[in-house]
Amino acid sequence: PAGALPDYLSGLNPEQREAVETTEGPVLVLAGAGTGKTRVLTTRLAHILATGKARPWELLAVTFTNKAAREMRERITHLIGPSAEGLRWLGTFHSVAAQILRRHAELVGLKSTFTILDTDDQERVCKQLIEAANLDAKRWTPRSLSGLIDHWKNRGWTPEKLPPSEDFANGKGQTLYAAYQARLASLNACDFGDLLLHNITILSQHADIAEEYRRRFRYILVDEYQDTNVAQYLWLRLLTSSTGNVCCVGDDDQSIYGWRGAEVDNILRFERDFPGAKVIRLERNYRSTHHILGAASGLISANRGRLGKTLWTEETSGDKVRVRGVWDGEAEARLIADEIETAKKSGLHYRDMAVLVRASFQMRAFEERFVMLAIPYTVIGGPRFFERAEIRDAHAYLRLILSEDDDLAFERIVNVPKRGIGDTSVQKILTIARENGVSAMQAVRALLGSDELQARTRTALSNFVRDLDRWRARAPEIPHWELTEMVLEESGYTDMQKADRTSGQTRLDNLKELVQSMQAFDGLTAYLEHVSLVMDLDRGDSADSVQIMTLHGAKGLEFPLVFLPGWEEGVFPSQRSIDEKGEKGLEEERRLAYVGVTRAKQDARISFAANRLVYGRWTSQLPSRFVDELPIDHVEAESDTGYYGASAGMKEAKSRWDEAPSFGSGYSSPGWKRAQSATAARAPADRPARHTLIEGDGRLIATADPKAGSGWA
Ligand code: ATP
Ligand code: MG
Repeated sequence: PAGALPDYLSGLNPEQREAVETTEGPVLVLAGAGTGKTRVLTTRLAHILATGKARPWELLAVTFTNKAAREMRERITHLIGPSAEGLRWLGTFHSVAAQILRRHAELVGLKSTFTILDTDDQERVCKQLIEAANLDAKRWTPRSLSGLIDHWKNRGWTPEKLPPSEDFANGKGQTLYAAYQARLASLNACDFGDLLLHNITILSQHADIAEEYRRRFRYILVDEYQDTNVAQYLWLRLLTSSTGNVCCVGDDDQSIYGWRGAEVDNILRFERDFPGAKVIRLERNYRSTHHILGAASGLISANRGRLGKTLWTEETSGDKVRVRGVWDGEAEARLIADEIETAKKSGLHYRDMAVLVRASFQMRAFEERFVMLAIPYTVIGGPRFFERAEIRDAHAYLRLILSEDDDLAFERIVNVPKRGIGDTSVQKILTIARENGVSAMQAVRALLGSDELQARTRTALSNFVRDLDRWRARAPEIPHWELTEMVLEESGYTDMQKADRTSGQTRLDNLKELVQSMQAFDGLTAYLEHVSLVMDLDRGDSADSVQIMTLHGAKGLEFPLVFLPGWEEGVFPSQRSIDEKGEKGLEEERRLAYVGVTRAKQDARISFAANRLVYGRWTSQLPSRFVDELPIDHVEAESDTGYYGASAGMKEAKSRWDEAPSFGSGYSSPGWKRAQSATAARAPADRPARHTLIEGDGRLIATADPKAGSGWA
């Protein structure tokens, strides 16, 4: 009887309980979004502690983010009280690995006081090595080397184990990597990738230490297992014996970090690695309404090679997923901001709403709109748009063109991209400027006529001044957004980003978005004034704010109302992932779409713009193929009268799109029609009564009334 159960178990369904109570031996929980995987993991921890099977410090639990770890700790405390406090080994892969490394640092040539470098430090070290190797730092940039080293570390490759196919600067990859490691050791430092890599080295070379940890960690728990990369996998393997009490939970359909070296295969490998592992599937989704689930399941069914899952929900209330076409990105921001205000008035909190974007450049339009309407918002997992380094750099150039006195702008970009004007020279310029009560630029002009600076620095500075003068002269003649483009091109800023394999493309996209957004303003001064206003109003993160984040950052989270903008070909799926990885890339994008839709509890709203302004030219956008793939039964397509003048209803929208040459094919695309008829053909005539059972491919395969007590066929 339920009364005899501890509280924390009583709310679980039988499969969840099995996953919680099967504490001994390897367990894999493989289940779709919102089925309670994370909840099972948390409850399992609580259960192990409450039943005295282990003490808090004998548990190893890894989550994907620090936030997730914090939430898990809070929930366990809530479930079983203060005994949860001793959970030393609950954290992210990195935080746990760092703790282990502190205890054995000397085995990899570090002291236990080692520092952990951030990406800037990493790049600085790479820069020194590239210079020392006499390589052209423009062609072989520090940033790309440090990105590559990260990538190698994610795959578990030390310099000695680096495959010959991996390289940098024509055969220098391995040498530079080894030199990098040596340099870090001499600094008594390691980078993030090292945390795991050093652990792996220590555990695989010292059987006694590995054995100690295997004994210590009597129970191991891993969330979001589908996104573990090779290094994380190797690390886990070393800490677990094949008969160990390890419980991993994951969802192959939510594997979205392939680009970071995550391997879905780890899930498939689980049963091989842990013979006799118990695989538990959870099928009931507790998060979302059946329309949201139906839309998501239908979408993901287009992927091949899935492990296959069943998902159902009892939640049959709720609206269909709304899909809306709007004129352009600004209209999309207006629509969503209006809907946020409406939702707020109807009783939802701001924090219950999230805007999930594919790429950071999309945030700009929303942030500006929210500021204008005083809707509080928080950008999760990254800077706000106007606070991004590349945007600030671009602004600094423009400010310096407008006003030579802007020493802050000068300092920011005088050597970005690198022009060979070192920190010492910059400090010297600033000192002279201060002493003489003039601006840095004036000081530079004076210094150019003297021999106080090295000839090389002088040449570099004189080129810089010449460029600025030229741009300033052009400013009155051309539109300010063209000027911005020109400055970014001619200064070498664009090239610098192009050379960056890691995140250059993202930054270029953000800069494009910046140039685009400038066109709404009457000149550079007006634009920069607007930016300072936006930045200023931006302050004050309130606890109740709309959450803006990327789809990647939304993993594991849930919100009552979720907005999914920018579902356009090239944006989402992103052109880059298709160009680079073809069908595999597309499938990963589709999983990302699945993650996005399944974040919603009550309401998911998808939108796409028919037009986007790219570098001053309107380009017509095609709705994402993912829009086509949504099963029509669960979707309501709308056209918003106010936004592009069509009356409500898909038919009108469709005919308008057919007529207007600048519009994409929209819902009239053959794919959409196919999807419509296919879904209509497979849906059973009797609509769901209380239960809706949706098979992996989005079909409705059974309906039932739980009161009738019938089981599932
Ligand atoms: P994701 O794949 O997105 O990470 P998940 O499988 O980890 O999802 P959870 O986040 O654990 O799912 O759970 C989804 C929601 O369902 C949460 O709000 C959770 O509290 C709720 N939930 C899970 N199990 C139950 C249950 N047995 N009874 C009531 N609510 C539940
Ligand atoms: Mg989860």
